Amino acid sequence: MRALTVIPGRADSGAVVEMPEPPETDGSVLVRTLAVGVCGTDTEILAGDYGWAPEGEERLIIGHESLGEVLEAPVGSGFSRGDLVAGVVRRPDPVPCLACGAGEWDMCRNGRYTERGIKQRHGFAAERFRIEPGFLVPVDRGLEPLGVLMEPASILAKAWEHIAHIGLRARWAPRTVLVTGAGPIGLLGALMAAQRGLEVHVLARREGVQAEAARAIGATYHTGRVADLPFHPDVVLECTGVPALVMETAQQLAPAGICCLAGVSAGSKRLCTDPGTLERQMVLGNEVLFGAVNANLRHYRAAAEALAKADRAWLARLVTRRERLDEWRAAVTRRPDDIKTVIDFTL
Ligand SMILES: [Zn+2]
Repeated sequence: MRALTVIPGRADSGAVVEMPEPPETDGSVLVRTLAVGVCGTDTEILAGDYGWAPEGEERLIIGHESLGEVLEAPVGSGFSRGDLVAGVVRRPDPVPCLACGAGEWDMCRNGRYTERGIKQRHGFAAERFRIEPGFLVPVDRGLEPLGVLMEPASILAKAWEHIAHIGLRARWAPRTVLVTGAGPIGLLGALMAAQRGLEVHVLARREGVQAEAARAIGATYHTGRVADLPFHPDVVLECTGVPALVMETAQQLAPAGICCLAGVSAGSKRLCTDPGTLERQMVLGNEVLFGAVNANLRHYRAAAEALAKADRAWLARLVTRRERLDEWRAAVTRRPDDIKTVIDFTL
């Protein structure tokens, strides 16, 4: 079968190659891949900056945002032929740690977890994959082909769950949300904020399809500086990972505000804010700055609900480009009007 692979650690080693059929050891459910979304992590892996092949293998099949159709599933697995599904990315560490032992592998304490398409396990960017039924999530038939948004949505479902948990430390009634960044993560975060009845603001660099999508769910779209915003948000979802913007955004929080960092920085030592000022403000304002990554089964289920409730035409705006597997280079090359690009295995 054909698969998009890379030799981890080696730049420009990405290639569509013939790989063996997925082994039964990957799981009892055989899935035909319909689509795989690409994101910044895939770009990093293809650049040789991230990613690990399975032990004893040279190449890693990438792809962690999946949508597929079940070809074979054992009786009693909860799945049957023709079901629309998405695969969970992370697997618990072998120890397991406190979190993994409780099914909260997204919170793994020892870092020995593995991840499909990223860390020591083959991903989903292959014509077929096998998976354990316990790591497979049903996708509403009506969501096809937008069910490919399930994995990114699971991350926002987790972020919102944690924001709500942190909010419960004291009496709390959030009203305004600021989302920085208008890529798929930012826009799905804004969607979930709107679903919670909050006043949503999205701040990003430019006008365009991203701004139109934000406005279409009733969000106010801003392109200026965070510090110039005429309000102090109760919640911030920081989805850019730009260090200077993270600092500025944290400083804009309302008292008792919660800032969730959902974008990963490429690393930079340049700060344009005095950390002392931020520290003082955070203490005197009882503010919280926290990071969120990955998702467990509970979050995938919450994501499935959020996507099922969303307007299909709006979700369709997020998938701005579909490319064939052969055209994977075009898929991973960003264009200004891209929100989410998908490798479509049915083309
Ligand atoms: Zn763990």
